[in-house]
Amino acid sequence: MTFGRGIRAPRHTTHAARRHHREFHVALIVQKYGGSSVADAESIKRVAKRIVDTRRQGHDVVVAVSAMGDTTDELLDLAGQVAPIPAPRELDMLLSSGERIAMALLAMAIHSMGFEARSFTGSQAGMITDATHGAARIVDVTPVRLREALDEGAIVIVAGFQGFNRDTRDITTLGRGGSDTTAVALAAALHADVCEIYSDVDGIFTADPRVVPKARKLDRVSSEEMLEMAANGAKVLYIRAVEYARRHGVLIHARSTFSSAEGTYVLGEGMQVPDAEEGETMEEPIVAGVATDQSQAKITIIGVPDVPGKAAEIFKLVARTGANVDMIVQNVSAAATGRTDISFTLPKADAPTALRALAADQADVGFESLVHDDQIGKLSVVGAGMRTHSGVSATLFEALSVSGINIEMISTSEIRISVVVRGDDLAEAARVVHTAYGLDGEVDATVYAGTGR
Ligand code: ASP
Ligand code: MG
Repeated sequence: MTFGRGIRAPRHTTHAARRHHREFHVALIVQKYGGSSVADAESIKRVAKRIVDTRRQGHDVVVAVSAMGDTTDELLDLAGQVAPIPAPRELDMLLSSGERIAMALLAMAIHSMGFEARSFTGSQAGMITDATHGAARIVDVTPVRLREALDEGAIVIVAGFQGFNRDTRDITTLGRGGSDTTAVALAAALHADVCEIYSDVDGIFTADPRVVPKARKLDRVSSEEMLEMAANGAKVLYIRAVEYARRHGVLIHARSTFSSAEGTYVLGEGMQVPDAEEGETMEEPIVAGVATDQSQAKITIIGVPDVPGKAAEIFKLVARTGANVDMIVQNVSAAATGRTDISFTLPKADAPTALRALAADQADVGFESLVHDDQIGKLSVVGAGMRTHSGVSATLFEALSVSGINIEMISTSEIRISVVVRGDDLAEAARVVHTAYGLDGEVDATVYAGTGR
């Protein structure tokens, strides 16, 4: 992408003048580097160079950085060793320090390359959140100090994943993977031209290349498709960041720290890839990708009395445990017994508590027994083209049937079809479905050892 490389606009150009001299347009670029991109001193220097290169092209640069490598996991582990249930306020104090280390080191590395850089914590950067420790939501961004630093010609580095609550006056964190959201929120508040999210993978793929070797990198994907893919197992972008970008009109470019190749643009309503040819219209594929998820378990409640109110009773019980129920299937009841089975899926980690709650109320609800199954896999086909094309589900079912893969549950949304299969069948299911929709690339995708973070 070009924003008029190499020429630096005089400061304080008026908008009209800027438009007139288009090639002088200074872009404001927000870049986010994940933990794997700043895992050690060498990587920090590599990232610093990349930032300086962007700066040299004449752009203003604001960087959101994650904690180095596995720092956050290590800090969590350490907390667990001193307290069985660490106090949420202190845990946020601890975890937010990971990003502070990375931001200061990155600023130092940039200084040593002869460029001005200034690092800021989340609260210094004006990341105002609600008071929920460990899963705070951004409510306002007041980047006064960042603006000042930019105006003075500095590269701005912001600690990702953290904010500040005005009422409690305490530091908060945004939840795991929250640095993506930091970057997008900064891009929105500063009206950045683009928010580049760097990780150790090349972009968004039609499927997880570790599962489907013929997966292809997408040049672009709509934000609604990206949301469905992220919600159904794709891990490259953090779902809250995509939601935030969609709401605030931020253009995301997911790309690799290790190459200068273009990655994947995530396009919201009415957005375009920068520098796309005038009037270039791409034939939109019906299916954008195939997502796989092996993090769910299935609970089946056997012999539920088939009378009004039972589903409400059951799911109220489950909801009270905080479990996040995904798919639900109720069988037709057996005429002889007037009873039915209800199955639902939920994150594996939520299953034990949900099972305990259901077992405790077995007599009240009046069901016969419970079955827990954590060997399932969920496959989802996502594509905005499903709105206007028929036969999309038939292709899915046909591909699975030819391979002899049994479907246990089905659910759909406007632009997604999901099925539950045996966990052992999931990889093969993903491959045959990927082929059936014509998504296979010519060559196998390069798979780095990376995590995509
Ligand atoms: N360091 C935090 C985490 O590991 C935030 C992030 O990486 O985005 O979850
Ligand atoms: Mg991390």
